[in-house]
Amino acid sequence: KMAEKKQAGYNKKMQRQETRECQECSYHKKCGGCEYSGIPYEEQLQKKEKRVTRLLREFGKVEPIVGMSYPYYYRNKVHAVYAQKKNGQVICGTYEKDSHRVVDIESCLLEDKQSTAIIRDIRGLLRSFKIKPYNEDTGYGLLRHVLVRHAHATGEVMVVLVIASPILPSKNNFVKALRQMHPEITTVVLNINGRNTSMVLGDQEKVLYGKGYIVDELLGMRFRISAKSFYQVNPLQTEKLYSLALEYAGLTGQEVVWDLYCGIGTISLFLAQAAKHVYGVEIVPEAIADARENAKNNQIDHATFYVGKAEEVLPQWVDEHKKDGDEGLHPDVIVVDPPRKGCDEKCLETMVTMAPERIVYVSCDSATLARDLKYLQANGYEVTRVRPVDQFCHSMHVETVCLLSIQNKMI
Ligand code: SAH
Repeated sequence: KMAEKKQAGYNKKMQRQETRECQECSYHKKCGGCEYSGIPYEEQLQKKEKRVTRLLREFGKVEPIVGMSYPYYYRNKVHAVYAQKKNGQVICGTYEKDSHRVVDIESCLLEDKQSTAIIRDIRGLLRSFKIKPYNEDTGYGLLRHVLVRHAHATGEVMVVLVIASPILPSKNNFVKALRQMHPEITTVVLNINGRNTSMVLGDQEKVLYGKGYIVDELLGMRFRISAKSFYQVNPLQTEKLYSLALEYAGLTGQEVVWDLYCGIGTISLFLAQAAKHVYGVEIVPEAIADARENAKNNQIDHATFYVGKAEEVLPQWVDEHKKDGDEGLHPDVIVVDPPRKGCDEKCLETMVTMAPERIVYVSCDSATLARDLKYLQANGYEVTRVRPVDQFCHSMHVETVCLLSIQNKMI
């Protein structure tokens, strides 16, 4: 016991030192995944806070960025592309910046280590199973990508093998061999992507082993995550992000809430614990199937989920319910968490007509956030809180949560 404690204390100390000194990734120039590699973490945080301040200062005071205490190996989703070199050697890693050349990556400072190991070991299995990497130029070969997802809280691991044509030879033995090396793998999914596209996943899917999804826990709730569903990549920081969003929503149990771009319903279901009813909208059908299952598994029966584009579902919903005076027409809070391109103007326009007291905007791109805040500000909303959260340590990306409140039009 004493020795264990001593070791844990030592590990913590080493982690603090690593964070202070900052490790530099040997691939970072080629891979381009972490633009801030080699810059001490404290300085990275300052850079991000400065950028957000520069873009959002006109809307209100930017509160200090929420950093991570040990900013390494946090990524719970690891993606690799496979290729064969002229000399026959198989490599796997990521595309070189702005190109389709593959950089062979043996280790990464951001990715969950176990997931990187799985990706490397799959590379080793290819030869004995006579599986060739897919060649984008000739269209020859089979294996395109591998996606590994690791549930931080439960330890469940999903492997998605993306192949170019529907048959993986000796698939059962392949899965067996892989599981022998990595018994932590709880599910293996085959995804068929025969198209000439930069999209990683195709439409067709087949479960080769296990449940076809993994379950993770965030803030005491359990979430099912399927291969095609979005899930935040940094679980420790996600809890901080969601807690802020929840705080900004200011719920007492009586509120009607919309959660647009809801994914598997994580934010929706946290809000539902303190709301009268929550409506979620998300474009990916598999994610909505997860969200509905997640509501059930967390004993939440006052959440309704819709599949479709927020900018289409929301106006249609308002139109259809105008006559019946449904409570969803006049929500207290609307939360949005769009992809980098931000919200479609039609979505913002509809939100404004619904006149919620508060809007919580969770954004992964401060430029489109500034654009959308401008629109909301011009239409009766005031930005009252802004706080960046570092979800993507060592990259230049930054997440921001904003609270907007309706201005009293009577004054
Ligand atoms: N709030 C969720 C998901 C945020 S990511 C979470 O924290 O996990 C953004 C989500 O928006 C993705 O799930 C994506 O599939 C979805 N999406 C993208 N464009 C959309 C649109 N036009 N309408 C609705 N959802 C969209």
